[in-house]
Amino acid sequence: MINCMTKVDAAIKKADSCMNLGGKQIASKLMRGRVLKWFGILNDDQYDHVKDVIRCMGMGVAKGKLILTYHTTEKAPGLYGEAQPPAKSGWAAQEPWDFARVAYRIDIYPPIWDLDQDRTGRLGPKSALMHELSHIYGNTNDIKESHVAGTQKVTEVGTGEVYYGPYWAAELKRNHPGLGIWNAENYALFLRTFLDPPIF
Ligand SMILES: [Zn+2]
Repeated sequence: MINCMTKVDAAIKKADSCMNLGGKQIASKLMRGRVLKWFGILNDDQYDHVKDVIRCMGMGVAKGKLILTYHTTEKAPGLYGEAQPPAKSGWAAQEPWDFARVAYRIDIYPPIWDLDQDRTGRLGPKSALMHELSHIYGNTNDIKESHVAGTQKVTEVGTGEVYYGPYWAAELKRNHPGLGIWNAENYALFLRTFLDPPIF
């Protein structure tokens, strides 16, 4: 358990530095290539939305009351982490500045340590934490088929297959403009380009 906590703490630190670097780059509007790659062509409002999400993630980690709960047994196959809403208000009542006064929790399950494939496939532990942090502090969703079909709002819990992983995240931004900025996975993939060495 101690070892696990040390690893998660290190991953959070790394995530924090990615969010700082990503936030700075986005604010300066320099090197837009990475933004383009993971979010597509954005209008000013959409660009500001991405900027706000990443800024809120950084502020949340720096100032929020984040609780990381480590579980030693699996909950479901492949489930590595689950962001939990504040106990009393639920997600619906969330406001961007809630993190300053309300504790959020991320449950972490053992499969997170199998996510060792940052370079080849899905997210590694650091990117996985950034995915969860974007839910908590940036109000992102897991975009699913129903969102793409337009039968549900991007802020509602969707149904159908979820746009996880580099392939589907890229497909989302390419074929459904404006939806990538609501998808947690796109933020994790964007932010992991600021790992050292970077992963594009
Ligand atoms: Zn998610």
